Amino acid sequence: MLSPFPWIINEVWTSWNKSNPTAADIYDGSSPIRDFVLTVVSVNDVRRAPIMPVPPDVLVPPQGTLLEHEKLLNGTTGGGYIGMVRWPICDERLTTLLMESGSGIHLADIESQTGPLDQALLEVYTIDTTDTQDIVYRDWANKLQQMRLRKYGGDGINIFHCRTCGRIYGAYSEP
Ligand SMILES: [Zn+2]
Repeated sequence: MLSPFPWIINEVWTSWNKSNPTAADIYDGSSPIRDFVLTVVSVNDVRRAPIMPVPPDVLVPPQGTLLEHEKLLNGTTGGGYIGMVRWPICDERLTTLLMESGSGIHLADIESQTGPLDQALLEVYTIDTTDTQDIVYRDWANKLQQMRLRKYGGDGINIFHCRTCGRIYGAYSEP
């Protein structure tokens, strides 16, 4: 299925809508993207991010202000759910959700192009906690490793792609 929203890749859109959700499954007709926090990527995020080529034929989310990006996410429709996520903003655009809680593009298919995503987690997660930066990144890397070993499905693990510069970012959501 083709995603009508360039900030959601077709594979995630399909997993959210393949069951042909009835109106009852769709939160009051409102966006499946709930309680998000727009997060402009930091200098360190940009420096660390692995890069995956942007396919030539994809739509690119529009450049805009944070308020405009917020309206786009709130205007998203259809089935599915992602909550309490930090949505990366890169190059003044929404990044595109490639993997949502393990659904969508498989981690292995992304990492086959980028190498390990152990450092892709947004730096903001080290600021929101009393844990050290090492612990925050080790926890993230451990979760990815459990996914690679198929011991963990990826609940709460999300991967985003900037369709301008190709950078890849990781963020947690409500599991
Ligand atoms: Zn970018």
